[in-house]
Amino acid sequence: MDGNFCHVALQGKVHIKDQVPKSLGAKTKELVTPCVIEELTKLGPEFSGALYIAKHFEHRRCGHEEALTPFECLSSLVGAFVPLPILSAFF
Ligand SMILES: [Zn+2]
Repeated sequence: MDGNFCHVALQGKVHIKDQVPKSLGAKTKELVTPCVIEELTKLGPEFSGALYIAKHFEHRRCGHEEALTPFECLSSLVGAFVPLPILSAFF
C-alpha cells in the first residue's frame, strides 16, 4: 500500500483491512515499506492519520538505503514477492 491509498481510504472512511478483501473477493495482506513510511512522515500533519494506519500494516523490507518514491519502491518489489498476491495502489 502506498501512503496516498491510506490517506484517501481514511478520507473516505474506508476500513482497508475489511473492505479491500471484500472488494476483491479474496484474502489480502496489507504491506508497507520503509520508503512508504518515510514519505508519509515527510508529508507532515495532514498525513498523520494515513501514517498511523500505515504503521499498523506489516512492514516489508525493501532494501533501499535512500528512500525511493512509493511508486518506485513498490514497483521494484512487486515481482519479488511472488507467489504472494500484492495490491499496490497508486494515485
Ligand atoms: Zn523502498
